[in-house]
Amino acid sequence: MSKDYSIKNESNVNSKRLVDVFCDLVRTDSTFGKERQMADLLIEKLTEMGYEPYEDNSGEAIGGNAGNVITKIPGTIDAAPLLFMAHMDTVEPGSGKVPIINGDIITSDGTTVLGGDDLAGVACILEAIHVLKEQQMPHGDIYVVFSIAEEGGLFGAIGLDISKIPAKYAFVLDEGGPIGTVAVKAPYYNKVEFKVKGKSAHAGLSPEEGVSAIKACSVAIANLPFMGRIDEDTTCNLGTIKGGRARNIVPDEVVAEGELRSISEQKLNKYTDQWVQSFTESIKMEKAVLEVKVERSYDGFFVPEDHAIMALLKKATDSLGLPLLPHSTGGGSDTNILNTKGITAVNISVGMTNVHSTNEQIAISDMAKATELVLEIIKANCMDIK
Ligand SMILES: [Zn+2]
Repeated sequence: MSKDYSIKNESNVNSKRLVDVFCDLVRTDSTFGKERQMADLLIEKLTEMGYEPYEDNSGEAIGGNAGNVITKIPGTIDAAPLLFMAHMDTVEPGSGKVPIINGDIITSDGTTVLGGDDLAGVACILEAIHVLKEQQMPHGDIYVVFSIAEEGGLFGAIGLDISKIPAKYAFVLDEGGPIGTVAVKAPYYNKVEFKVKGKSAHAGLSPEEGVSAIKACSVAIANLPFMGRIDEDTTCNLGTIKGGRARNIVPDEVVAEGELRSISEQKLNKYTDQWVQSFTESIKMEKAVLEVKVERSYDGFFVPEDHAIMALLKKATDSLGLPLLPHSTGGGSDTNILNTKGITAVNISVGMTNVHSTNEQIAISDMAKATELVLEIIKANCMDIK
């Protein structure tokens, strides 16, 4: 991935420092809702650099033990304010992570994820603002946000008070792919819960008095008009089924949870309606009762190629001799929330690979490139004096 890359200008990125910081972060536990240690470490690192980080109370709403860590780096020139953001939480298995460096590649020891998603993004931003200070590079106001609880449902971004972050554009560092990859399109997301209520009865003595919620739910699932990929823009999944009390009781309740995602809000609404309608009819035929909950977890976004944020990004990738690779993603990220809250945001790659698995890895050269890209974005932004 990195073979053809050569930094045109002399690099200011300190790869050793970048790797040291990344490994420090990896060794720190930071799973969903338990980001305390990580938040403390980030506040310490930012303070050591001479910045003045603060923590918000976003964690309280989800019973977490830490909030988003936020820093403003006051501008030295009059350029548009920018936000750089990465999430500090990692997925499970994520406790006791040990980084193993083998040449250019960093992996875990195989028993946990590496947490490059998204600690690589955090490390790249930390290195970039380190260089910014070290080299006394001119820049406009820069906001840095390290969010909590992204993996559990983008809760840190949802709780973020954007009125304190008047950035014109935001760059989230939370993508995979070659450096230069940028997610400009992401889906709308609906959470669906089907609660099927039957009637319990003794399975041996009086089964005819019962209504099996498991049977009704099974029929309803089998009758669903689609599952998996629906079309190029839309997917759906039924992820969990829970129910029943004991082998000898006709089950009176089953809960099935699912999701639908689509780049098109119209399609999302249409397919969600069809799913719910089909389920409802099946449950009725089975003489059970259905309670349905549909919740929009987050909205999608689309940043057109001729948007000014893309021109800025193009300038930055050009100056590094990197390709700009816009693409559409099937996943949600903090980027969705920022766009919904009114800051135009895109999600750029830091080179994370095999995320959410114990085979996760990242190349040091990719992290260094991603850091260069952050610095080039800041430089390019200075040319666009507001
Ligand atoms: Zn992530």
